[in-house]
Amino acid sequence: MSAPATDQRAYNFSAGPAVLPVSVLEEVRDEMLCLPGARTSLLEMSHRDKAFVDILHDAENSIRSLLKISDDYSVMFLQGGAALQFSMIPANLLRGTDKSAAYLQTGTWGKKAIGEAKKEGKVNVVYDASSSNFNHVPTASDYEVASDAAYLYYCSNETIQGVQFHDEPKCPESVPLICDASSDFMHRPLDISKYGMVYACAQKNAGPAGVTVVIMRKDLLEIGSESLPGYMQYKLHAENDSEWNTPPTFAIWVLGKVARWLSDDIGGLDAMEKINREKASLLYDAIDGSNGFYTGHAKPDCRSLMNATFVLPNDELQASFLSEAAGNGLVALKGHRSVGGIRASIYNAMPLEGAKALADFMTSFAAKNG
Ligand SMILES: *Cc1c(COP(=O)(O)O)cnc(C)c1O
Repeated sequence: MSAPATDQRAYNFSAGPAVLPVSVLEEVRDEMLCLPGARTSLLEMSHRDKAFVDILHDAENSIRSLLKISDDYSVMFLQGGAALQFSMIPANLLRGTDKSAAYLQTGTWGKKAIGEAKKEGKVNVVYDASSSNFNHVPTASDYEVASDAAYLYYCSNETIQGVQFHDEPKCPESVPLICDASSDFMHRPLDISKYGMVYACAQKNAGPAGVTVVIMRKDLLEIGSESLPGYMQYKLHAENDSEWNTPPTFAIWVLGKVARWLSDDIGGLDAMEKINREKASLLYDAIDGSNGFYTGHAKPDCRSLMNATFVLPNDELQASFLSEAAGNGLVALKGHRSVGGIRASIYNAMPLEGAKALADFMTSFAAKNG
């Protein structure tokens, strides 16, 4: 007989789709053929079936209570990934106005969002970190936002560069702040009341591919024009409880289980943040303690708690690092081609032991090859 699947699992540092909690995968396996009490699989069930509608509401309520989201905000489950939000945001909030939208460009995903926004209206890139190959985020004195801007958009964690905002960027009170939190959603508590909108595709830190969570202040729902394609109108999704059309039922089911795991097993977002900080310090300590063998990409005060990016002295060492790591059960560590080197994604579901195993491997690899 082959080994049980859980014994065959490596520590998976993929940037996304990415690691999920084993207990969630086990639950999904156990309930796959027949959802408890429902007599069919969730995959075979109408999205209007009460059993699924309850699952959708439970997922929403778990997210609301983890992030303490008030009734001033709608929570929607959409498709089209984060990429569709790059277009939906300016289509609703910028198109047809004489305003301009402010963007902070601190990495690849922000840059893509800017490209899509330019198709919809006036865009003002108020800060651009591209000349330093996106290794930092701005401080409050580095940029200005006009008080009549349509919104200020930023990406809280640039997944490819491993650069993260550790606080909200400065934003005039009159301007809605919009955040792409795809790769650090629910990694720590967040004060949603500071935002006009926060969104995240699930497949990095919150669930499987297929669903994007959109948290939007209700007054902003009214701005989008009714001449937009129906799917592009936030208002329709909000009014119809994310069932304007068939939502991604499987992805919402798993997302809801991950949210329940965060509250019941981890103990909420304060506890999650503590673990995430511990995991990240293990890796950054291994970089900083390597006498220059590893070089981090991000400036130390902008280092991501979710994606640690670093390079080795040369390509040969990098290749042997990746193959030896895989031999030690540490996989999916190859960095994105635009940064090169290694990227270790240590999302919520990566256990502390996984980060510890990688840090130990890094230290011994540097000692052997340095
Ligand atoms: C992965 C990612 C995206 C793109 O997500 P899709 O669902 O593939 O469109 C956007 N923003 C960030 C921060 C990401 O990590």
